[in-house]
Amino acid sequence: MFNTLFRQIPSLDKLLQSSQGQDLIQLYGRELVTQQARLLITQIRTHIQEYKDLPPLLLSNGSFFTVLETQIKQIQQLSIKRVFNLTGTVLHTNLGRGLWSESAVEAGVIAMRNNVALEFDLGTGKRGHRDAHLSTLLQQLTNAEATCIVNNNAAAVLLMLATFAQGKEVIISRGELIEIGGAFRIPDIMKQAGCKLVEVGTTNRTHLQDYRDAITENTAFLMKIHTSNYQIQGFTSSVSEDELVGLAKEFNLLVISDLGSGSLIDLSRYGLPAEPMVQDKIASGVDLVSFSGDKLLGGPQAGIIVGKQALIEQLQSHPLKRVLRCDKVILSALEATLRHYFLPDQLSCHLPTLHLLTQSLEELQQKAKKLKSCLRKRLEKQYILQIEPSLAQIGSGALPTETLPSYAVTISTSSSEMLLMLDRRLKSLKDPVISRIASQKIWLDLRSVAEFDELLAALEVL
Ligand SMILES: *Cc1c(COP(=O)(O)O)cnc(C)c1O
Repeated sequence: MFNTLFRQIPSLDKLLQSSQGQDLIQLYGRELVTQQARLLITQIRTHIQEYKDLPPLLLSNGSFFTVLETQIKQIQQLSIKRVFNLTGTVLHTNLGRGLWSESAVEAGVIAMRNNVALEFDLGTGKRGHRDAHLSTLLQQLTNAEATCIVNNNAAAVLLMLATFAQGKEVIISRGELIEIGGAFRIPDIMKQAGCKLVEVGTTNRTHLQDYRDAITENTAFLMKIHTSNYQIQGFTSSVSEDELVGLAKEFNLLVISDLGSGSLIDLSRYGLPAEPMVQDKIASGVDLVSFSGDKLLGGPQAGIIVGKQALIEQLQSHPLKRVLRCDKVILSALEATLRHYFLPDQLSCHLPTLHLLTQSLEELQQKAKKLKSCLRKRLEKQYILQIEPSLAQIGSGALPTETLPSYAVTISTSSSEMLLMLDRRLKSLKDPVISRIASQKIWLDLRSVAEFDELLAALEVL
């Protein structure tokens, strides 16, 4: 039985010499066809060994060559596909966080297609610095003296620790020893940077005296970390940047603040929950502040450090900076993003993330109605469609305890099997639709999807 199955697999030579094999070689070349045929044969063998049967794909498609050709064609297909984010989490890290503004996209494309004045001072004709373009803008936006840009905020934290605290102690409150996910834990980053973590206070309460008591001659700096993905509530107390700066001055120490998302504008002005603002920390006298380019800022992935000139210079000349620097595409897109901040009244038109976050409930309800009627035309009668109020969130660690009111189209049906099957159908569309499953329903939240008309078009083939 086993052997009969194995005997049905043709030999590689026979396959390649057959007329169908030759046709494929004509189309795709011998090298690729041979490699893929070999791979397929191995896969079939493994399947037979494991399941004592031919693979379903082979049984349903009939021919080895049809399967082989599909596999060869898949090589040309991108696997990082465009997807529609209907999870309700606007900055979804697994879905690539936010979208760039049109100007950022244009700036990025120009940088891809052309040489740009990246490290070239057009005034003097001499060598310039790649971060200088952004430094000038951030000086005006945050009042910080200088800027250092790296790959992401995790890299920013690593660089600050490695530059100023290698072999030394860094004091942090126990209430701020965060894990961001994806192996970013403050104690681990400290270890990587070769510094010693000195924890002070308790999980819920830390006082200025706790920091004071922990200061030794080996202290490098006092660190403040924005607890971006959780909130400690109840009997709590923490020490503000202002107080830390006062204490640090007494001992001639630095204060460094990791804001996580951070913001350059007061989000409450848009009716959103407030996030700490970079310029406020600078005004408090914090020496260095770091934040992400692709969280609430609304730009490309980057880590932005702003602060005192002399310290930034030290960061810039650390060997790790060369390792962690950004390329011309990212820096161009970041520059275009920052320029929007000089016209704050137009910000929510230009920045897709802010636009999504500030959509009114009426707008979302209108979209929900359209989505529902589009789905009704496509889905079998046994699926029940409803428009329901939903709770969306900013995501990427920003304000997880604060939800944003939203609307969702929910889909339910009698069996959970059928529900999962529909979810798989949504995910296997050419442009997959990513939903949230909760309370035995598929939730399609309208808050997080940017290209709404394209979503409707994509669902035409559901
Ligand atoms: C998100 C976050 C980071 C990591 O930022 P990335 O840009 O994702 O690398 C670090 N610290 C805090 C407090 C954060 O919220």
